[in-house]
Amino acid sequence: MTIPNGNKKGPALYEKLIPVSSPSLGKDELGEIGKVFDSKWLGLGKWVLEFENEIKRFLGAKNAVGTSSGTTALHLALDSIGIKKGDKVIVPSLTFAASVQSIMTTGATPVFCDVEPDTLNMDVDDLARRITKKVRAIMPVHYSGLACDMDAIMEIAGKNRVRVVEDAAHAFGSSYKGRRIGSFGDVTCFSFDPIKNITCGEGGAITTNDDKLVRTIYKKRILGIDKDTWSRYAHKRDWFYNVTELGFRYHMSNINAAIGLVQIKKFDDFMRKKRAIVERYDEEFSGIGGIELLRRDYEDTAPFNYIIKVKSAKRDGLMKFLKARGIDSGVHYIPNHIQPFFKDFRKRLPVTEKVWKEILTLPLYYGMSDSDMDKIIDSVKTFFK
Ligand SMILES: *Cc1c(COP(=O)(O)O)cnc(C)c1O
Repeated sequence: MTIPNGNKKGPALYEKLIPVSSPSLGKDELGEIGKVFDSKWLGLGKWVLEFENEIKRFLGAKNAVGTSSGTTALHLALDSIGIKKGDKVIVPSLTFAASVQSIMTTGATPVFCDVEPDTLNMDVDDLARRITKKVRAIMPVHYSGLACDMDAIMEIAGKNRVRVVEDAAHAFGSSYKGRRIGSFGDVTCFSFDPIKNITCGEGGAITTNDDKLVRTIYKKRILGIDKDTWSRYAHKRDWFYNVTELGFRYHMSNINAAIGLVQIKKFDDFMRKKRAIVERYDEEFSGIGGIELLRRDYEDTAPFNYIIKVKSAKRDGLMKFLKARGIDSGVHYIPNHIQPFFKDFRKRLPVTEKVWKEILTLPLYYGMSDSDMDKIIDSVKTFFK
């Protein structure tokens, strides 16, 4: 991202901002894309299958289905478990709009719940209070890569016989009590958009241990076309297919899978560097009175982004201060329950309403230089002096 440098005379000159996030891609990914081009098979094909196998191996998941994005993964998962008009799905308000829009797309309505102030993950006591007969699913969001209290969530879900669709867009490679997110649980959705832990350019995936459900997901991923009938007739009539239900066109392409196949090999390197950055940030910022750090667990967490809480209504001021020094920052997220489109589902969420005014996302990405890191730390310290 670039900003004008304020030079009013002559041609506009642009200066580089240190971005909040930036993907790390290069020749390796291009080389793999080249192989897809050579094959002339750009859509759903063997690269997707190979990427799905890599995800299964990496996470220890029984099934993995590649999708065109994290948002389509969420919608496909909800639709496949039977979420429809008249149903309700509990979701934290403090999440990306994609979580909520995927619920809206099914015709169901979101029930917003509050978060814990120190992790920004779903508050399980608030979740339990919001269960009603119409609630058919719970959508926890593993905020910033830190796993939600899955034991408590699965227990509440089991008791009330509702399903759990995890939004693990932030949490590819994170674990809960030593097990990778996506290897246990009910249905888990990942995103591989350009800012996520690994990227496919655009892409997503669903993992589940439910073999019956995964057959529905495969069909609905590509227009409700029944692949079983397809293969049954394959020897005699390979042009034959049946459309057996409502479906979408949500599959991953070979081009995107090729990028992901290279990226997944770089995961350990990416995370080693990102962990080092967040640990340094924590250490440097822990002594600043105007900042509160989030509760983290670096053993189990693949850090997605880095968020501080800025006290005493100074968040917006710090943002402006950083921008003037060439450092971008962000707010993740503006709560959904205060968004115009979701106004019908608005309710009081005291923690969310307080913390969203304090949270600030600082730059965190693999390619960050030491001098950029020093500049960010110095600037934050200077602001609070
Ligand atoms: C990125 C993201 C999504 C959506 O993923 P896309 O691949 O961008 O469609 C959903 N939920 C959360 C919390 C995200 O950060």
